[in-house]
Amino acid sequence: MKNSNLNRRQLMKMLGLGSAGSLLGSAVPTMAKANGRNGAGDLSPSGSRDKSTPSYAAGLPPVTIRSVKAIGTAPQGANLVIVKVETSEPGLYGIGCATFTQRAEVVVTAINNYLPDFCIGKDVDNIEDLWQATFVSSYWRNGPVLNNALSGLNQALWDIKGKRANMPVYQLLGGKSRFAVDCYAHADGKTPEEVATNVQKYMDQGFRHVRIQQGGYGSLYLAQQPDFKDAGFGRATDDFMDARAYVKAVPKMFEVVRKTCGEQVELLHDTHERVQPQDMINMCKRLEEFDPYWIEDPLTPENMHLFPQLRAATTVPFSMGELFNNQNEFIDYMTRRDFDYIRCHVSQIGGITPAMKIAHLGEFFNVKSGWHGPGDVSPVGHAAQCHIDLNIWNFGIQESVFFSDQLVEVFPGSPTLKKGYMYVNEAPGLGVDINEKLAAKYPINNNAGKWTIRKRDGTIIRP
Ligand code: MG
Repeated sequence: MKNSNLNRRQLMKMLGLGSAGSLLGSAVPTMAKANGRNGAGDLSPSGSRDKSTPSYAAGLPPVTIRSVKAIGTAPQGANLVIVKVETSEPGLYGIGCATFTQRAEVVVTAINNYLPDFCIGKDVDNIEDLWQATFVSSYWRNGPVLNNALSGLNQALWDIKGKRANMPVYQLLGGKSRFAVDCYAHADGKTPEEVATNVQKYMDQGFRHVRIQQGGYGSLYLAQQPDFKDAGFGRATDDFMDARAYVKAVPKMFEVVRKTCGEQVELLHDTHERVQPQDMINMCKRLEEFDPYWIEDPLTPENMHLFPQLRAATTVPFSMGELFNNQNEFIDYMTRRDFDYIRCHVSQIGGITPAMKIAHLGEFFNVKSGWHGPGDVSPVGHAAQCHIDLNIWNFGIQESVFFSDQLVEVFPGSPTLKKGYMYVNEAPGLGVDINEKLAAKYPINNNAGKWTIRKRDGTIIRP
């Protein structure tokens, strides 16, 4: 990520803090004076101490939602969806990430067609109430799309609350538990040796954690021309995965990377839910000697009931939950300690509010965070996750990507990476803005999300 090196004044200007952004800066003393209060808001007109009314509520009307809209943009290729919430306070707005890259246009519709009527006029301060109300407002719930829209709304409201409080969001969550957020990078390669070379490159940049994949998810390059293509079954662009070849290749990759890069680097691997449970158990047992940091998403949603067997069969740590839609889906697995890292898309699970609840649940069961943070999370979403990561005690590791210069131009104030640590800036709110004019130059498209992966005979493989 590019270090934007913005100073606080530039950030305040850039982040749309407007008159409301300086509510507790220049405006509050004036308002407080008019109400007979000092800056701390604890003196009544008569000068006596009054602790019943906080300063933000000192006779001022609530700040309400004036508009809600979606902004779709793809500056780095992946579709990103942003929710922008404007308020009754001139110049005060918030933004949040609602990205579901594979179905971006549907999320844009969900935001633009359903959120404004429901949200306009509501008090921006009542984040929990708005989350609960919006969540059940469609009656049918728990799905992607609506949850993405809700996530964006929720993050935007936290952004606004931070601006009103004149604090970065992590402060509102309880302050810092660490100085920065430890991240992992992605190393790929066609051969184990190539993977090891790329791991070393990240280690040289200061990363202590690297995810290793040989030929992407499922090592698709291992495939020969599959029989289904010879038979004319499916489309010419469909991929073929040889799951048996994959589960044999992964331990060999770990062996070479360990031998080449040593014991100190932490190695992660994503199975992307593509392997049959018994194959997964056997593969994980073979990986134990290479001490993986985590094996990600070992089971499909349909096979989740097999988690206790998987857990009992192997000692490798697991991250899980990328395809979960709702915080309640975590409860049974976490309280049984079936997995070790909470792997979910904060821009899908409902935003900062439910992510904090899941994280706090994990604290009591020794389950740590590992939020989904690839290129199909916007810099706003990365910032939201980084604010959570800074606060929660049971932080595990954060997935990171490198932001291109043009992505940072569209999203000024984006988080930065240094020696494998992610940093957010100290501006009030999430610390990221969006340049809508520039964003419009990179329209979203419906090219993404056509993943079709088949077995040799053409059977669909479920991720
Ligand atoms: Mg994954």
